[in-house]
Amino acid sequence: MTDQTKRTDVKAVLRAKALEGNAFSTWRFLTLNFVDTTFKEDSAVTDVEVDLTFSSGKVVPVKGYNLPQLSKELGLSTRTQKDSYDLVVVGGGPTGLSAALNAGTLFGWSTLVIEDRAPGGTASTAINRIENYLGFPDGIDSDALCFRWYQQIQHKPSQFEYLPYYRATALTAASQSDVDKTKDSHLIPKYTIKVERPHGEKDESPLEIVAGMVLIATGVSANTLDVKDLDTYLTKGAYLTALPSDATTVKKGDSVAVVGGGDTAAVAALMFAKQGAKVTMIIRGEFGHYQDMVNAHVDQIKEQKDHITVVEKSEVHYFDHDTEKLTKVYYGKARGKASDPRPEKKDCTELAVSALYALIGGKANTEWLKDQKDLKLLEKKVTGWPNQILGTVLTGPASGTAWPGPTNSKWISTGSITATSLVAVFAAGDTRDGTVRRISEAVGEGGATTIDMNGYVKTNHDKIIRQGKILELFYATDESE
Ligand SMILES: Cc1cc2nc3c(=O)[nH]c(=O)nc-3n(C[C@H](O)[C@H](O)[C@H](O)COP(=O)(O)OP(=O)(O)OC[C@H]3O[C@@H](n4cnc5c(N)ncnc54)[C@H](O)[C@@H]3O)c2cc1C
Repeated sequence: MTDQTKRTDVKAVLRAKALEGNAFSTWRFLTLNFVDTTFKEDSAVTDVEVDLTFSSGKVVPVKGYNLPQLSKELGLSTRTQKDSYDLVVVGGGPTGLSAALNAGTLFGWSTLVIEDRAPGGTASTAINRIENYLGFPDGIDSDALCFRWYQQIQHKPSQFEYLPYYRATALTAASQSDVDKTKDSHLIPKYTIKVERPHGEKDESPLEIVAGMVLIATGVSANTLDVKDLDTYLTKGAYLTALPSDATTVKKGDSVAVVGGGDTAAVAALMFAKQGAKVTMIIRGEFGHYQDMVNAHVDQIKEQKDHITVVEKSEVHYFDHDTEKLTKVYYGKARGKASDPRPEKKDCTELAVSALYALIGGKANTEWLKDQKDLKLLEKKVTGWPNQILGTVLTGPASGTAWPGPTNSKWISTGSITATSLVAVFAAGDTRDGTVRRISEAVGEGGATTIDMNGYVKTNHDKIIRQGKILELFYATDESE
């Protein structure tokens, strides 16, 4: 049986001069939101145009680069339904969706998920087949897995709300007027979250959402490449993520540079080689380092030596400056650290490319929390754990957590794992320091954090529930207390 990966109620035709810039971003948006999209080259189109054809026969044109309007036409919610929520989850990857599902089904809290891209988060950009998630004996492609999560959101609208294509940009303490002017949540609002369109698009006034509890589930995003003019070429030949659908943009004989020595880079290199491209993998360290790439990928890349050239101990230092689209890169000896001088261009190797994919790990999505000085983030790698990412959120004992958890409870004897240094703010999944960054852990932590939250609600019950509101409490009659 073929896994479903697309909505059946709508298809899109996207027209532009080339699949670059705004056209590429629109195509990615439609693809990640499960819309079957066909690209048509059209030299008469100045920017980008999309025709959405619905199963009813209705055709809706969207002219110009306008993702908020596309969201609206696709029926994705554009406003929240309540004036306040018991729980606001920031991030709609597996952690956030699992937490929201548990919050709604187990505890009945009013819950909102805010997601700035598409359901599934980073998991939706996994180009490899996902082989290590329970329940799929033959593995499952990321788009098929994320489509199932999307369907679950559609099936559970009464249990949590999902606000797509909005980004949380600040977290502040709720004011007394926020408390007074809202009524919907059971919990007294504790925080206000400012929410805007992700790329500064003009919209109705930015939203402010108030919440009794907040979950930070914002994951990590792709690291950028330290090369001058990267921004000029992003989506115009230079890319920081690769999707399976990108394979169709590469033709036989194209030259593709893949930067990175991890599994993601390996899978991308193999995918483009399969399309008949000539792939150059540019790696700062040594190829096949045991911590970076699984043995199977090392072997497959070696087998593809006629199609994949591996360049070790090197990095890309310069891009071509002559054209609007990236056509050349120059790579040379890797520097020890970013502040070391680069080799001169004349000492680098010139490589003509039709595309460059930099797939070089992630950085924590926590910049939106920078004004919360009391929220403890990882500033220095302290444990020697190679997986640590600076800027991830410290939780549990490492954060001096504001709510230590019901340590006297027979249910949770180890205290709270996901509580942060801010009262009623929790963090889980990839954006929490100490995780191994796997889908199964994200889903598990999403569920586990609601147990921590329930402990917080239970131990602070009389102080945090609005007058006149009743909230069902799970484990409310814990015998050990
Ligand atoms: C290429 C690749 C392949 C992978 N393959 C596998 C695999 O085979 N098996 C496996 O187990 N794991 C795999 N992983 C890891 C797995 O995808 C992650 O561990 C998992 O997705 C983490 O889930 P999360 O919900 O914590 O974070 P994410 O999935 O990163 O979700 C966080 C979401 O929050 C959004 N966000 C960020 N900031 C904001 C904000 N301010 N406001 C609103 N939204 C925001 C992000 O856009 C994102 O959608 C892979 C990862 C990558 C990159």
